[in-house]
Amino acid sequence: METFDVAIIGGGLVGLATAKALATKHPECSIALIEKEECVATHQTGRNSGVIHSGIYYPPGSSKATHCIQGRKELLAFCQEHSVPVKQMSKYIVASKKSELPRLHALLERGKANGLSHICKISSDELKEREPHINGLGALRNDDCYIVSFKEVAQTLLNTLQLHTFFNSPVHALYHVDNRWIIETKNHVLAAKKLVNAAGLYSDTIYKSVSSKKREQKIIPFRGEYYTFREEAAKKVSSLIYPVPDPSLPFLGVHITPMMNGGVEAGPNAVLAGAREGYSKMQIAPQELLETLSFPGFWKIAQKYFSVGAYEMYRSFSKKAFLQSVQTLMPSLTADDIVPGGSGVRAQLVGKDGTLVQDFALVHEKNALHILNAPSPAATASFSIGKHVANILFNDE
Ligand SMILES: Cc1cc2nc3c(=O)[nH]c(=O)nc-3n(C[C@H](O)[C@H](O)[C@H](O)COP(=O)(O)OP(=O)(O)OC[C@H]3O[C@@H](n4cnc5c(N)ncnc54)[C@H](O)[C@@H]3O)c2cc1C
Repeated sequence: METFDVAIIGGGLVGLATAKALATKHPECSIALIEKEECVATHQTGRNSGVIHSGIYYPPGSSKATHCIQGRKELLAFCQEHSVPVKQMSKYIVASKKSELPRLHALLERGKANGLSHICKISSDELKEREPHINGLGALRNDDCYIVSFKEVAQTLLNTLQLHTFFNSPVHALYHVDNRWIIETKNHVLAAKKLVNAAGLYSDTIYKSVSSKKREQKIIPFRGEYYTFREEAAKKVSSLIYPVPDPSLPFLGVHITPMMNGGVEAGPNAVLAGAREGYSKMQIAPQELLETLSFPGFWKIAQKYFSVGAYEMYRSFSKKAFLQSVQTLMPSLTADDIVPGGSGVRAQLVGKDGTLVQDFALVHEKNALHILNAPSPAATASFSIGKHVANILFNDE
């Protein structure tokens, strides 16, 4: 049986960035990357908005704020070093109602507390001057924003690291025997001294399969659907346009995002997915759906956010309702300007009491590090999360 110093389950950005951090700090380390798909970045990493977040939204001192700000610097440096294209552009967080203006101010304060000195408030007239098709009562402006293809970042990481890769290898079983991990996949059995569980949408099930501790949290999959702008409409926006987010929700709201391929997308909404990898309404995994529906935390959030959830469901089925949300930011947009686009599924950890876990969550047990909650902005933050994971695994912090 092949034995490695570290085995990483999951070829998304968090797993790959962890491999990079390990290879940099401990070059002698042999690393196995185990991925159930045939290539990297098939799930969250390859199905997102492609925005390198600057850290404005997250409470100062939280893991999200710390890793987003540090991870962004390292990600941009990596892209420069390896010629991964990024595009710099402005971002506007737009207040559409009077009631959102105090929240805009609170966001400005939060951004400054997170060290973002270049953000400022602008009037509706300045917003119109800069983005003539966007309407708002005022906005926060940040000119130091970037977009990237996170899939390309992941592929470049893979190409530049010396890893022992096991693709098409879903992990079926894990055992901790004689102080090492035995990992059974569809085609292989391998051993490792240390384990990283970066399995994204399935990280909680992997954790539960090996932990004796009863952790009463579960990943609930929330699908985010996008519409794509037709060419003429895409020419009307050149910046990232975001609404003011609802502070009680972990999602940022439907935004308008220029993409690296030159297109523009609007989305994502947030609806319960019928499967952890349920990218369309028709994709349902009965067992997974049953597990979600029998989890008390799901019913608590369904109760707590009943009206938001019901509206999200309606908006998912109604193009008119989706369009209306985008029109709040861009009134001239018409139904003919947008066509259904792609989707992604967010892995959101939820407590049994219905708490939506807001911050990143990591658990260290028996020489294994389980990354249990790594939703947005974990793609931006991945390089910093990876370093943190490597430090914990080797007792460097
Ligand atoms: C709609 C949407 C928009 C987003 N927008 C942004 C954004 O603009 N900016 C940003 O920073 N973040 C964004 N995010 C968040 C970001 O994409 C994720 O936080 C990040 O990609 C998480 O990476 P990961 O490696 O943890 O998970 P993943 O990319 O999901 O990788 C996990 C991997 O584990 C593998 N795996 C699972 N189970 C097993 C198993 N049993 N055996 C072997 N392999 C397994 C999977 O196949 C997968 O490849 C967005 C997310 C979504 C869904």
